Amino acid sequence: MTAPPGPFGPLDLHLHSTVSPDGYSSIEEHCRVALRRGLREVAFVEHADFHPDDPSYLSFDPARYTRELNAARERFAGRLTIRKGLELSVHPTLLDRARAAAEDPSLDLVVAAVHVVEGNFVWTEAFLRLGLERAYQLYFDEVARTLDYGLAQVLGHIDLPARSLPVGIELERIRARREGLERTLNMLCAAGVVLEINTSGKRRREDRLIPELDVVARFVELGGQVTLGSDAHRAQDIACYFEVVLPELRKLGVEALATFEGRELKLVPF
Ligand SMILES: [Zn+2]
Ligand SMILES: [Zn+2]
Repeated sequence: MTAPPGPFGPLDLHLHSTVSPDGYSSIEEHCRVALRRGLREVAFVEHADFHPDDPSYLSFDPARYTRELNAARERFAGRLTIRKGLELSVHPTLLDRARAAAEDPSLDLVVAAVHVVEGNFVWTEAFLRLGLERAYQLYFDEVARTLDYGLAQVLGHIDLPARSLPVGIELERIRARREGLERTLNMLCAAGVVLEINTSGKRRREDRLIPELDVVARFVELGGQVTLGSDAHRAQDIACYFEVVLPELRKLGVEALATFEGRELKLVPF
């Protein structure tokens, strides 16, 4: 009989170690902090960007990843379940390479991600200059294209543009956002893809959960499964704000978080 999960819940399904070019903590450092915070399970989803405009374009080193992850699995055996995943972005010209990476049989999960729209990172001024309606429309078209490839079990940070939109912008008034979210949530349900609730926006001045709780509520209403990820690139950020978000999820009727073992869905109660 295992002890009930602590305030940070049972798992964090979105971590980046130094295997990702923008990570600051090793896999081992992350695992130590995860244990201190009472987690039983973590998933590393290192950047695998098959997109020429994405920051980690083709930098993914699968051999190093496997080596460091297996060493951690050995060191923390019996104490922490360590899932092996990728955060995958795909440009159509590199689809074959992305597919080959995503189909690696040693992976537990693949998280689909869109960071770039028409050459602009969705967190930049250049993206905003497209105009919010246009920008959101293009963003969700890109999300739909990525999901259509059918390579992922989870969609990461569904409303990533909102993470850096200035405080005071009324998100609900952006029609392309509302429509894009609804279309995407329905796509996820139809394909059985899990919605990630990403707390990285809570660490910023804008203080936004990605997506916000009304979007999660809609997805739950549609019958979809959710999971929780901090998107920590530093071990100190593991499970950040989970203690705040988990009670809110309970209020929406969510009782378990999704994880994957060899791409097979498992539900972990919290
Ligand atoms: Zn991302
Ligand atoms: Zn990430």
